[in-house]
Amino acid sequence: MPFTQHNGLRYFQFNALQARHAIFTRHGGISPEPWNSLNVGGTVGDEIERVRQNRLLSFEALECKPDSIFDVWQVHSADAVCARAPRRFDEPYRKADIILTDRPEVTLFMRFADCVPLLFHDPRKGIIGVAHAGWMGTVKDVATRTVNVLQAEYGSDPADVIACIGPSIGPDHYEVGEDVIRQVRQTFGKDSDMLLEPHDGRIHFNLWKANQRQLERAGIGRIELAGICTACHTDDWYSHRAEKGRTGRFGALIALQ
Ligand SMILES: [Zn+2]
Repeated sequence: MPFTQHNGLRYFQFNALQARHAIFTRHGGISPEPWNSLNVGGTVGDEIERVRQNRLLSFEALECKPDSIFDVWQVHSADAVCARAPRRFDEPYRKADIILTDRPEVTLFMRFADCVPLLFHDPRKGIIGVAHAGWMGTVKDVATRTVNVLQAEYGSDPADVIACIGPSIGPDHYEVGEDVIRQVRQTFGKDSDMLLEPHDGRIHFNLWKANQRQLERAGIGRIELAGICTACHTDDWYSHRAEKGRTGRFGALIALQ
């Protein structure tokens, strides 16, 4: 069962991922419209105290200690941080879009609304990771960069690694313009033909397939795709595109058991 209900919260989990994890829907929080209700984004106009409360509710649902959190300031980069301890409450955010850890006392947490959440687990080495791949992250090859850091910092064999592609904007809803098309062609070369799909005379970018392609090329052993479009299902998910920017951010959490 990919969806679980707990105290009004509803979250998605991957079948392939043994590590404790969740991609939270928007249900079960305390924020009013347009952030209703489990908004964990601190930069979208919602009150910080509500955002904090929503984050606490999310951690509680997964039985993770709130002060085990390690999160970052997501900036659409391909920069990685290896978390050696939870982020202290007075510690400034690092700018990054990939977080990895081998520490059971650390819970990794990121925020999304259409961009692709990538979750990683190397059960052999005991490593987890989360990455943020919108179109910018995808053309910067966040997926491959994550695998490279897993290898370099933790000695992972990509064949042992499970990677999961979470709910995010699907190819049906993701029309893109000339600038994006040009950068996709630059990054993917001949593969870009299968990633840039014609829809009614417009071009749509298939972020799911793009990230899957990068993970496959990096030698990842098992890949699971949620295949859920955030813009199709704004009842469950925040969608920056479908809600024209007036929306919240949903959380993605992963921790070692
Ligand atoms: Zn859609």
